[in-house]
Amino acid sequence: MPELPEVETIRRTLRPKLAGLKFTGVRIYLPKVIAAPAPEHFTAIITGKKIIDLQRRGKYLLFGLTGGYTLIVHLRMTGSMVYREKTGPSSKYTHVVFYLDNGSRLFFADLRQFGRLWLLPVGSPDGPPGLKNLGPEPLDKSFTREIFEKKLHCRRTRIKPLLLDQSFIAGLGNIYADEALHRAGISPEHPANTLTHRETTRLYRAIRDVLQEGIKNRGTSVRDYIDGEGRAGRYQEMLRVYNREGQSCLKCGNQIARRKIGNRSSYYCPACQK
Ligand SMILES: [Zn+2]
Repeated sequence: MPELPEVETIRRTLRPKLAGLKFTGVRIYLPKVIAAPAPEHFTAIITGKKIIDLQRRGKYLLFGLTGGYTLIVHLRMTGSMVYREKTGPSSKYTHVVFYLDNGSRLFFADLRQFGRLWLLPVGSPDGPPGLKNLGPEPLDKSFTREIFEKKLHCRRTRIKPLLLDQSFIAGLGNIYADEALHRAGISPEHPANTLTHRETTRLYRAIRDVLQEGIKNRGTSVRDYIDGEGRAGRYQEMLRVYNREGQSCLKCGNQIARRKIGNRSSYYCPACQK
């Protein structure tokens, strides 16, 4: 699933291409991916609108359009948004094609079909509930170590599922949560409220470090993630625990284990994560 670094990479690759362009039309091949409004209204509203900006919040892409509208995109498991100057990656997984006034196209494709698009006036109550309830942005200046520690101390749940909870902290998924916990030397099953001051500090830094490294390496392409120009990322080559079950821990040499925690596979080193 595209996590914060992948969605941020898509934003950074698409923004310079799209800013200032106008939508001249849309073709919707799979109507169910349009969450709001009804597909025929979606087409009518977006046609003629210009893209002013492209922002990210958590794992959501937010296209700021003229007329006070926002196009919100969540890629979920396998979604992608790819810009092509001429012909595009037209496959059976392409569900929406946006036509732009410079002759280029923007393709929304999704193998698993869980990704969704919303086209709404700014401030509309019909947006995705997940976006309204998002927790703090981990790379934002306002997200301080003190705030993180305070939030952890009132939660008795295990740390791994808590890090995946988008209302607790925005943008982390399975890959970066596992990597951050390994780097901080904390077991994924450690109760959040009993982490020491020192452990909290290590985890806070580890979260920010792995996300920044992920962005620097243009995301992790373990399965099908590609950026806004159709290119794979590089961070999969640097992962220390994720997808490395049975291989040796780069810190201590012990075997990396995998266990289901809160219904998700967690990769960790039983020797150096306490
Ligand atoms: Zn280890």
